[in-house]
Amino acid sequence: MPEYMGGSGRPPSPPTLRAPRHSRGALRQRNSFAGPEQPGPVLLYGGLTRAHHACIKGALESLGYRAEPLPVPDNRDLALGRQYGNRGWCNPAYYTVGSLVRYLEARRAAGEARPAERYAFLTVSSCGPCRFGMYADAYRKAFRETGLDGVPIVLIDQVGGLEQDAGARWVRLDHRFFVRVVRALMLADLLNELAARTRPYEVRAGATDQALDGALGLAEVALSRRGPIGRLLRGVRDLFDQVAVDPLQVKPVVKVTGEFWAQTTEGDGNYRLRTWLESEGAEVRMEPVTAWIDYLIWLGLDYVRARAGLRPREGGVGLARTVGLVVGLRLAQTLVRTAYARYRRLLGARPDPLPPQHLLARYARPYYCPDLRGGEGHAEVGKHIHAFAHRQAHLVLSVKPFGCMPSTMSDGTQYKVMEDYPGSLFLPVETTGDGEASVKSRIQMALFEARARARQEFEAVLAARGIALAEARRLAARRGLARATARLPRRWAGTAANVVEALHA
Ligand code: SF4
Repeated sequence: MPEYMGGSGRPPSPPTLRAPRHSRGALRQRNSFAGPEQPGPVLLYGGLTRAHHACIKGALESLGYRAEPLPVPDNRDLALGRQYGNRGWCNPAYYTVGSLVRYLEARRAAGEARPAERYAFLTVSSCGPCRFGMYADAYRKAFRETGLDGVPIVLIDQVGGLEQDAGARWVRLDHRFFVRVVRALMLADLLNELAARTRPYEVRAGATDQALDGALGLAEVALSRRGPIGRLLRGVRDLFDQVAVDPLQVKPVVKVTGEFWAQTTEGDGNYRLRTWLESEGAEVRMEPVTAWIDYLIWLGLDYVRARAGLRPREGGVGLARTVGLVVGLRLAQTLVRTAYARYRRLLGARPDPLPPQHLLARYARPYYCPDLRGGEGHAEVGKHIHAFAHRQAHLVLSVKPFGCMPSTMSDGTQYKVMEDYPGSLFLPVETTGDGEASVKSRIQMALFEARARARQEFEAVLAARGIALAEARRLAARRGLARATARLPRRWAGTAANVVEALHA
């Protein structure tokens, strides 16, 4: 529990090295490297998308670390994680433990006798209140049982601020670390979204993934060399604009929300949902990791404000500390949101802006009290209503690991939301590692309805504007709207409907 929430401010430290701080120059010298096979300590990380892994690698290398993403976990990792885990862990812990153990065992089999001296695992932690707070112990238990004891776990407390004790003597968690990693996460979010908005409309299959590969290569190099972000994003824009697209194909837009890990992973943990939805003809909006960072900052602000004026024995932290925390959190919020908005504009404003957190909380409050912490808290409810009220998607899909406590609570309230917003189409699904066929068949039924809504919306816009499809296609090509980064209005959920709208803007 962080200090301002009345806790000690730190999760328990791993059973390893607590060491003196090093200067940045000394760290660079210690960690500098030319390639992954060079000797020297390696920071392992994972659990996000390919784009996040590439951008984080660049950011960590700019700080002088050798960094290696773990492979995206699959069902072999789930089985391995279950073998070493306790009953009752959540799926993300099983998958992560499995992939971590498999990676380190492979390194040991390749002749690295003492992985504990070479590798550290970088991950995020918190005190809960759901089972998330127990993940670090899960990793340690698995290490003990596989003879990997002593591999340092570098825990980033997700509400722990800009200076944290890393728990490994060659890692330094300071403001530079957080600024560069958060910037990398933002860029990865935006590249992922630009690709997800382009891929369903590409004329040549695979062209978007080629552009994304090129963009990730540019991003990794630019981040590792601390190159200018403006130049990087202009290069990305050029790459995507070379992808020939037909944006007047009518596609249902599916927004994926839910538990953080389950909604983000690209592997078996969510049945490779994004790829599968696209193969079913949908345009997919995955939640950006930046929205999670924005949510955590908002939570901190909300908590501090709620306790302003309380005495220390009542949970207050005093006037000076309250003012300091509010100023610091406000500044962080402004910096994150401003940078995201700027990067987004440099990509033609195609990706969605971050939704205001106060608005999500206001939407959710009648159904799920924002004071209830854990997992995504009230955000799942807020995002469902926001997507419907702001015409962001034809279908909202909420994905969570089986038995996820906070998501199960919010799913309970979503039925009341659907009753109060009868036009919304919402489907909650649980992932267990098995049961894929039944989950996908439920989604297919919802997609059928979403497709019909997208078609109705498009035909209504064509009729309202008095234009035929062939004419709209001709005009869109002539006015430069058939480009991946063309700026479109956000009046309708569907891309094709917004292209017709743009013809009349
Ligand atoms: S949010 Fe859900 S899945 Fe994630 S740790 Fe908490 S209970 Fe487990």
